[in-house]
Amino acid sequence: MKYVSTRGKAPSLGFDETMLTGLARDGGLYVPETIPQMSHGDIAALAGLSYEEAAFRVMRPFVADTFTDDEFREIIARAYAGFGHVARAPLKQLAPNHFLLELFHGPTLAFKDFAMQLIGQLFQHELKKRGERVTIVGATSGDTGSAAIEAFKGLDAVDVFILFPHGRVSEVQRRQMTTPAEDNVHALALDGHFDDCQARLKDMFNDFAFRDEVRLAGVNSINWARVLAQVVYYFTSAVALGAPHREVSFTVPTGNFGDIFAGYIARRMGLPIDKLVVATNQNDILHRCLTTGEYRTSEVSPSISPSMDIQVSSNFERALFEVYDRDGAAVAQLMDELKGQGGFTVSQGALQRLRETFLSGRVSEEETLAAIRQFRDETGELLCPHSAVGARVAADHLGATPMITLATAHPAKFPDAVERASGERPPLPERMASLYDLPERVTRVENDLGALETLIRDQRHK
Ligand SMILES: *Cc1c(COP(=O)(O)O)cnc(C)c1O
Repeated sequence: MKYVSTRGKAPSLGFDETMLTGLARDGGLYVPETIPQMSHGDIAALAGLSYEEAAFRVMRPFVADTFTDDEFREIIARAYAGFGHVARAPLKQLAPNHFLLELFHGPTLAFKDFAMQLIGQLFQHELKKRGERVTIVGATSGDTGSAAIEAFKGLDAVDVFILFPHGRVSEVQRRQMTTPAEDNVHALALDGHFDDCQARLKDMFNDFAFRDEVRLAGVNSINWARVLAQVVYYFTSAVALGAPHREVSFTVPTGNFGDIFAGYIARRMGLPIDKLVVATNQNDILHRCLTTGEYRTSEVSPSISPSMDIQVSSNFERALFEVYDRDGAAVAQLMDELKGQGGFTVSQGALQRLRETFLSGRVSEEETLAAIRQFRDETGELLCPHSAVGARVAADHLGATPMITLATAHPAKFPDAVERASGERPPLPERMASLYDLPERVTRVENDLGALETLIRDQRHK
């Protein structure tokens, strides 16, 4: 199995290199050269399996000969052992034909644990085999950073540095990043916004001398292995509701388009998904694009669903690559326009093809709060603001096909917004109760590339 870049100019790589590299050298994103197929029988055979065994069968063809079957099974087992629910991704019913897929039973209470826990074990295994070490640097508005730290802490083949905007993440998110005691974990509070964190991260990757010196690796949502891990729960939940014998649809609270793109891959593999519905908050670039064909960035407007406060939706490039018939030059041109002019227009043909799979909806702040209240009153379920955005949009698309809304975080991760909406303050699950008592460890850094690089050189293990 080879992986190719969405911009058509970087060398194709195997699974291991694709995973360790992250971003392609031509600025593109890696996608599999061909999408493996699961037959009707293969999908039917997933019924009743453990999450781990289903994960093995769904992901196996993408990984090819990077690992033996036994190694890969062990990696998966270790990745999901720390989850607080034996089903890993349990399904609940919200309303007639409307289901909630709970993706928040991992160690940091958000769906990003599914990908990050797996990627931690994949990196560790592969680097051990090679006798190499890497330095992982990530930028976060909250959830990615805590998931990455939780996944890589204590693994001896990596140091993990996470940049977060000082004073701009929730207390739960901050504590999840600053309380792990393992000395390969480095939480960095940067004086600036999330965009500054992301800009400095990009600068580091573009400083090739530094990049090679510390063996920089990225685990942000454009890493193919993260998309792959997320494909699995589309299969397990659809099969629980009767696939492949009947179709299902999904609604996905969306920011960077990574989670919903995994659904697209599942569909292309043969899972009978009718529609994939993009749910956005007031930062609605994707909803506008799917409605008008215009992909145009503006200022990020902070919301109560902060993990979706995004203007450039990086994984959307992968979907464009598909609907432009895998024409890397065409995608590269759109991305140049995005960089130079702040936007682009999707061709009529490509837009039509996007709409064959994707629907979309946008939810305002007021509607999000009202949705949290309404679902609590009608079902007793407390939804996090992101999940509420999803459930609200899904409610507009209910019909004969079962609808599954992805619940992307636990309500206790966003207690202020949930309390404001419902009057109820969701408690942390028991297994995390000590979070408020543990000592914090964090380095405050200025928004300066040189200072950051010096700090990383000094703190990393050699
Ligand atoms: C990251 C995140 C999202 C958005 O997922 P994308 O893959 O970026 O579209 C939604 N909800 C929560 C809670 C998240 O952490």
